[in-house]
Amino acid sequence: MRACGTCSLCCKLFPVPALKKPADVLCEHANASGCALHGQGRPPVCGEYDCYWREHEDMAEEFRPDRIGIVVTEAGTVTVGGKELGVLLWNQTDPEARRSRDAQSLLDGVVAKGMVAMVLCGQDLEIVFDRAQYPAIAARDIEVAFRYEQSQDADELKRLGAVPDDYRSLTWGEAEALVPR
Ligand code: SF4
Ligand code: SF4
Repeated sequence: MRACGTCSLCCKLFPVPALKKPADVLCEHANASGCALHGQGRPPVCGEYDCYWREHEDMAEEFRPDRIGIVVTEAGTVTVGGKELGVLLWNQTDPEARRSRDAQSLLDGVVAKGMVAMVLCGQDLEIVFDRAQYPAIAARDIEVAFRYEQSQDADELKRLGAVPDDYRSLTWGEAEALVPR
C-alpha cells in the first residue's frame, strides 16, 4: 500500500456522517501529517478507506487524487445482462476535472479493461463504460444494479459510519424506482 503523501482529497470530498462532516469541505481534523484523530477514535470508515490510487502501486504518480482533482474508489461489482462488471466511483467537485489529459487517460485505461466508471460531480452522474464491449447493456441498468447492490451493504456501511442512520437495503423494485427511465 503506498503512502498518501500530501494528498488529503478524500478528507475533503466525502461526507462523513459520523462526524457530521458535509461533502466538499475539508475535515476539521485534517492536518499537515494527515489526521489529528488517527488512533484517537476517528470513524471506522476513515481507517478502512483506501482510494484506488493508494491501492494500486503500479499507477503513475501523476494520477494521485489531489493532482487530478478526482478520488477514484473501487466499489465492487454489478451483474448486468449476464456480465459481471467491476465498478469504480469517480468523485470530483470540478466538472472539468475529468476532462484533463491525465484524468482522461486514466478513464480510458480502466474502461478499456472492461470496468465501469460512475463519475459523480455534485448531483450529476455520468456512467462511462465500453459500449462496444457491452452493446446490450444500458447505463440505466448499471445504475439500478449498483444502487441495489450497494444498499445490500447497509449494515456494514452504517457500522463504518459511512452513511446516515436511515440508510437501508432496497428491494430491486425500489432501486429501479430511483432511476429515471
Ligand atoms: S484520496 Fe487517496 S491518496 Fe488522497 S488522502 Fe485519500 S486515500 Fe490518501
Ligand atoms: S477524521 Fe481524519 S481521516 Fe477522517 S475525514 Fe477527518 S481528517 Fe480525514
